[in-house]
Order: sequence, then structure tokens, then C-alpha cells
Amino acid sequence: MHEQRAYFADGLPALAPSMQCVHEVLHVSVERISGRKLQRIRKRWFFAHPLCVQCSREGRLTLATELDHVVPLFKGGQDDDDNRQGLCSPCHERKTRVDMGHGPMPGCDANGWPIDPLHSWNRLT
Ligand SMILES: [Zn+2]
Repeated sequence: MHEQRAYFADGLPALAPSMQCVHEVLHVSVERISGRKLQRIRKRWFFAHPLCVQCSREGRLTLATELDHVVPLFKGGQDDDDNRQGLCSPCHERKTRVDMGHGPMPGCDANGWPIDPLHSWNRLT
């Protein structure tokens, strides 16, 4: 809790408890890495993999700000590098909704993309 407002030297915000990956909050079977060890992993990961992998797949360059488990821990994924990926906040939110069995967000298509043609995401290309 005392690290809630901490920032890395490279400017990446530390993971506040409220921003914890919901996958990690919900898991019960795998011991979750937390605290300083998690902060070290995040710093190393974002230094080596600065871009959101989902945005990259869709042709956008977006900084990753959230460390995600490809296979959620509560679905049996492991808390190791083979199961990590960096996502931006919107992509992480979309993935989490799918992982949790929820449908797309209101106003978005099945991929979570805004339906509104005037939405800023639809005016980038
Ligand atoms: Zn993204």
C-alpha cells in the first residue's frame, strides 16, 4: 500500500492496488507475485516490451501500461514471463471483459472497437 503513489525512474507509473489486474485479484490457485518483486518485473518488462501487443497486432503504436497474463491465473495460467504481455489500458479492459465471460462494452463491436465512426480511435488511420 505504501507504494501506491510510487513512480519508476523512467516515468512509468507503478501499479496501484486499485489497478491490479483483475485476473490476479481473482486467482486462487497460483501464488501471485506482488510488491517490490512485481514492480521489478514490470519495469524490466516494459523496458524490453514497451508497446501494447494488441494495438501492435491491429497496426497501432501504443505504449503498454499494464502487465497482463495471456492466460488468466484463475484459468490456470502461470505467473511467469511465458504468460505475460504488455497491454494499454483500453486493450486490457477489453481482454478482461472477454476473459470474464462478458460481452463487448456498450457502443463497441465484438472486438471492443468503438462503433461510432467519429470516435478518435476510428480517425487514426
Ligand atoms: Zn492496446
